[in-house]
Amino acid sequence: MSKSYEIIDHHYDVLVIGAGGSGLRATLGVAESGYKTACISKVFPTRSHTVAAQGGIGAALGNMGEDDWRWHMYDTVKGSDWLGDQDAIEYLCSNAPEAVIELEEYGMPFSRTKDGKIYQRPFGGHLTNNGEGAPAMRACAAADRTGHALLHTLYQQALKNNVEFYIEYFVLDLLKDEKNKCCGVIAWCLETGTIHRFFSHQTVLATGGYGRAYFSSTSAHICTGDGSAMALRQDLPLSDMEFIQFHPTGIYGAGVLITEGARGEGGYLTNSDGERFMERYAPNAKDLASRDVVSRAMTIEINESRGCGEKADHVLLHLEHIDSDTINKRLPGIVETAKIFAGVDLTKDPIPVLPTVHYNMGGIPTNYRTEVLNPTKENKNNICEGLLAVGEAACVSVHGANRLGTNSLIDLLVFGKAASITVKDKITPNQKKLNTSSSNTDEIIDRFDNIRNSKGDISTGELRQRMQEIMQKKCSVFRNHKLISEGIEDFETLQASSNNINIKDKSLIFNTDLTETLEFHNLMAQSKVTLYSALNRKESRGAHAREDYKDRDDQNWLAHSMVWLSDIGEVKIDTRPVNLNTLTNHIQPIPPQKRVY
Ligand SMILES: Cc1cc2nc3c(=O)[nH]c(=O)nc-3n(C[C@H](O)[C@H](O)[C@H](O)COP(=O)(O)OP(=O)(O)OC[C@H]3O[C@@H](n4cnc5c(N)ncnc54)[C@H](O)[C@@H]3O)c2cc1C
Repeated sequence: MSKSYEIIDHHYDVLVIGAGGSGLRATLGVAESGYKTACISKVFPTRSHTVAAQGGIGAALGNMGEDDWRWHMYDTVKGSDWLGDQDAIEYLCSNAPEAVIELEEYGMPFSRTKDGKIYQRPFGGHLTNNGEGAPAMRACAAADRTGHALLHTLYQQALKNNVEFYIEYFVLDLLKDEKNKCCGVIAWCLETGTIHRFFSHQTVLATGGYGRAYFSSTSAHICTGDGSAMALRQDLPLSDMEFIQFHPTGIYGAGVLITEGARGEGGYLTNSDGERFMERYAPNAKDLASRDVVSRAMTIEINESRGCGEKADHVLLHLEHIDSDTINKRLPGIVETAKIFAGVDLTKDPIPVLPTVHYNMGGIPTNYRTEVLNPTKENKNNICEGLLAVGEAACVSVHGANRLGTNSLIDLLVFGKAASITVKDKITPNQKKLNTSSSNTDEIIDRFDNIRNSKGDISTGELRQRMQEIMQKKCSVFRNHKLISEGIEDFETLQASSNNINIKDKSLIFNTDLTETLEFHNLMAQSKVTLYSALNRKESRGAHAREDYKDRDDQNWLAHSMVWLSDIGEVKIDTRPVNLNTLTNHIQPIPPQKRVY
């Protein structure tokens, strides 16, 4: 027993932390093969953020026009601004069609073409013929509720395969043994207030992104990147944290997403002159250029006084020219969203929109087998035994400096399954129970107990808002040395106050004050390493646009950032080479080129 907490022990072959698309796909993969598997989630599985995904899943099925996984790979490498690892991108794009067909066979209710095939729409940055041809019809969609359909399909399959779910269990930290191998987690059951220790031979982190580090975000409030912060606390690095994706079309004022599928179906943006300004910035792809390109163009239009509205601080998205049959069939969700959050009938009027934080390209570094990297001086490819990571929490890295729309959902499916394949390579089902005596249990419980008993005078909500405002203002679409340095200074002041948090509710049952504080600490750790990584990278690449270093600099910066955070808050930064080689000879490496759309 540690402090006054009674601990309930559990033993599994495999633990999956997170029940979003990536966690459920990994869970299903191992459960189908007879492993004793538990999936832990802080919310009911189908409330994970994946449920909100709208536009589609990227896979070169070629159902509605010619397509090829090699073109998908070309677009993904180019979209990543050459920071993506080409072995992992080959694995993603070549396995994508099969992953979608599997999902179809699991029962996913896709939208259909007239002849019954899976419906596919164009999306930003996806083109045919190695970027030379017309937009590719590549995004497999269930209207504009693709994530909802995907998550429910996977959850039902997991139930069919007798997965044991621990729902509304908040995972606190990773357990490790004396050899630093990951051997499970400790979680707090929100409903009963009990503390649980889960031992496992393989643990898969599928805890999602940390969009809530920012004030305006399309992500759910639960997107606090808990797993990545747990990795940091175990002296593991995070990778490429400076690359934050701003989605061009968050609803002005509300931050709620209007899918890129809206532009895929023919929508376009205008400035206060009524000009379709994307024609100037991306003459070929126009409104369907990659997200970083469109978000920067919008920000420049606003900064140069061509924004719309009273404050000239947003632009307009037009869909009113599209016939209402298409809108109601292909985009029913955003008709509602526009009405509720912008008060706009989109069949009649344009929607006011603004770039809004949407996705984290950075995260827990892994290889394409989803093994978590723990680089040493001697071996930059060294792995942390017993630990895998998938989904938005991970940085494989297939998205590099900028993710293309639809490439996250396919990442969840392909690498969720890859994690289950890696587990099968490493262990057989029904492993012996692990020895429970040699772990860092006390350390984890002490940290939890200290936070629970915080007796300061500032509320978590107040501090969180201050953190979100710093990130929003100082580490935004455009950055420079002065701005980020100010951000770091403000952040240090904030961190000093965060020792002064007041948690009023001391109970252990549904204590949302405590949950939010644990999440806030996780967000703080990730915000800090994001600011330092952004300051460190002296070039512009993908979503990282430095006003003081305007160009991409392959000579010095064609490398992943790796960042560590010590327990006394010191940041250490190093780099790791980008893998420019492909996995097989089915495709040749795509050498770095200038990125134009
Ligand atoms: C509004 C919106 C629309 C999008 N649309 C698309 C799209 O059309 N196409 C596309 O490719 N991508 C899209 N994306 C991106 C994509 O949906 C996400 O990147 C992806 O769903 C993340 O999935 P995940 O499995 O990594 O994590 P999530 O779905 O975020 O799930 C995380 C899981 O981890 C659990 N968890 C986290 N912390 C803890 C903890 N401490 N203890 C226990 N459990 C924990 C949560 O309970 C949850 O189950 C969209 C994103 C948003 C926000």
